[in-house]
Amino acid sequence: MTRKLLPSDYHMHTHNSGDSTAPMKDMIESAISCSLSEICFTEHMDLDFPITESVPEGTFTLDIPSYTRELFSYKEEYKEKISIKYGIELGLQTQIVKENTQILADNNFDFVIGSIHLLDHADPFYPDMWEGRDEEDIIRRYFVATLENIKAFTDFDVLGHLDYIVRYTPTKGAGYSYNKYKDEIDAILTCLAENGKGLDLNTKSLTRGGSQPNPNSEILKRFNELGGRIITFGSDAHNPEEVAGCFDKAREIALNCGFDSYYTFDKREPLANPL
Ligand SMILES: [Zn+2]
Ligand SMILES: [Zn+2]
Repeated sequence: MTRKLLPSDYHMHTHNSGDSTAPMKDMIESAISCSLSEICFTEHMDLDFPITESVPEGTFTLDIPSYTRELFSYKEEYKEKISIKYGIELGLQTQIVKENTQILADNNFDFVIGSIHLLDHADPFYPDMWEGRDEEDIIRRYFVATLENIKAFTDFDVLGHLDYIVRYTPTKGAGYSYNKYKDEIDAILTCLAENGKGLDLNTKSLTRGGSQPNPNSEILKRFNELGGRIITFGSDAHNPEEVAGCFDKAREIALNCGFDSYYTFDKREPLANPL
C-alpha cells in the first residue's frame, strides 16, 4: 500500500518571526523530507503587542520587505521540489483594524491567518493573567473577544488555533470542553461558516504530547455541522523538527469530524484537496 501524501503545512514560522530562529532553508528542507508538495509560511505580524522584559518593542512587527525577498528567492530556487506560498499570521485586535487592513492592501499574500494572541491587551502566556482570577471566566472572555475581532476585521482566510488560550491555563485545560462554552463557540463558528472563512487545524499541542489539536475535535465536528468547509493544516512549527507534526493523526481527526477535504490557497483563493 502506498502511503498517502501528508496535507500541505499552512502554518510555519522562521527567523522572520520574533519568536523563532529557524532558517527558512531548513524549514523548506524539512518539509521536503516529509514529502510535502506544498507549504505556506505564515510569519507573525502582531502590531501593538504589549512590551515586557522578554518581548521588547517591535518583536512581532514583521519586516515585510525582507521576508518577501527571502521567500521569493527560495520559491524560485525550490520550484522543482516544492511549492512555497506567501502567507502571514496577522494578530487581530480591534484597535488596529486600520493598520491590518493597510498591510493586506499593500502586499499580495496567498493566505492570511487571523489569530487572537492577546486578551485585553495582555498575553495569556504569562501567569499574571490567571493569578487570582476565574479560569472559566477568562476562557469565556477570550471567545467573546474572538467573535468581536472577526466581526471587526474580516479580511482573513482562516481563524488561527481557535481555543489556543486553553494551552496556557494554570490547569492546562483540565475541565475544558466545547459544551461549557457552546454558545460563544457556536457564534464564532457560524460567523466563519457564513462568511466562507475557515479554521486552522493547529497540531502544535499534538506535537508537544497533547491529545487534541486546536481547536479540539468537538469544535471541528461542530464547524462541519454548521456548514463550515474550509480547514487548513498547520503545524505552527517554529523549528524544522515540528514541520507537519502529527499530520497523520490530524488527518484522521478531520475525517472523523466529517471533512473530506483540506484547503490550500493561491492569491487568497481557496482550493479543495482530498484528505
Ligand atoms: Zn498563533
Ligand atoms: Zn503561529
